[in-house]
Amino acid sequence: KAKNKKLPFWHYEDINFQEESTNLDLLAEINKSIQNDNFEIHYQPKINLKNQSIQTFEALIRWNHPGKGYISPAEFIPLVEKSSLIEPLTEWVIKAVLADIKKFKANNNSLEYDIAINISARNLQQPNFVELLINYLKEYNVDPQNFSIELTETDLMVDIENNINKLDQLKEKGINIYLDDFGKGYSSLKYLKEIPIDYIKIDQFFIENLTEDQKSFDIVYSIIELAHALNIEVVAEGVETEAQLKVLKDIDCDYGQGYLFARPDSKEKIIKYLEKAAEL
Ligand code: C2E
Ligand code: CA
Ligand code: CA
Ligand code: CA
Repeated sequence: KAKNKKLPFWHYEDINFQEESTNLDLLAEINKSIQNDNFEIHYQPKINLKNQSIQTFEALIRWNHPGKGYISPAEFIPLVEKSSLIEPLTEWVIKAVLADIKKFKANNNSLEYDIAINISARNLQQPNFVELLINYLKEYNVDPQNFSIELTETDLMVDIENNINKLDQLKEKGINIYLDDFGKGYSSLKYLKEIPIDYIKIDQFFIENLTEDQKSFDIVYSIIELAHALNIEVVAEGVETEAQLKVLKDIDCDYGQGYLFARPDSKEKIIKYLEKAAEL
């Protein structure tokens, strides 16, 4: 609790359980679903806007609920990440993705992929998180170069000094770091130089308004300039139209992700795609 006092803008530990039995029921259900493997990972490519190639994917969790079908992470991650259940859930994601990377490699050994998982503030707060991740990479025999993490500024600000230290350790192992949802919420330009990140992902809100709203354009343009000055590459999130793509290319954005290129899809679909790419 003392830690929160220093961080007035982010109270992730202030969980308001207030005997909210629905939340507790949901957490119990999720816990059971982790044991029963009732989750699935979908993958969405990030397109290199310079050469149209696909080398990187984002892993997005889906809850394959026994009774209710697919449930979006937007409906359960915000709750889970306020509890310690995010630890086993992220561990499930890590194992699932590493197992999939082995399958992807088996289907196209010549391509170099980078697959990013999303982590939450609490994951970085786990004392053994770096060790745990490194050990899984070894166990699954996956090169850390093929693995990345995405996290938001808000996640980082929870304990900035400690988190920068953790990210340094991950980077040292070869793991790439994406700063997610950039521009949304608390923007820590002050820290941008100190955080060892490789990529900034511009929040889809700005991309959505890119072609209609001068302010959004100015913000996106400035983020790209700033990032490049710091040797950081930029991913635009939520690219849905050709008009947005054209503007992004014009202002030198490095990568695009969004429904215009591909929706998140099952690993079977990704494997098919990779087989095709291998034949080319
Ligand atoms: P995010 O990390 O910002 O992921 C991007 C979200 O935007 C995904 O939603 C993706 O499906 C969606 N998206 C991609 N392209 C487009 C587009 O062109 N238009 C629109 N409107 N949306 C697009 P999704 O899969 O529902 O995930 C929602 C959020 O849940 C993620 O946002 C992330 O914060 C969280 N999340 C997902 N998987 C995980 C996970 O394994 N662990 C953690 N901790 N969080 C996760
Ligand atoms: Ca993300
Ligand atoms: Ca998050
Ligand atoms: Ca995002």
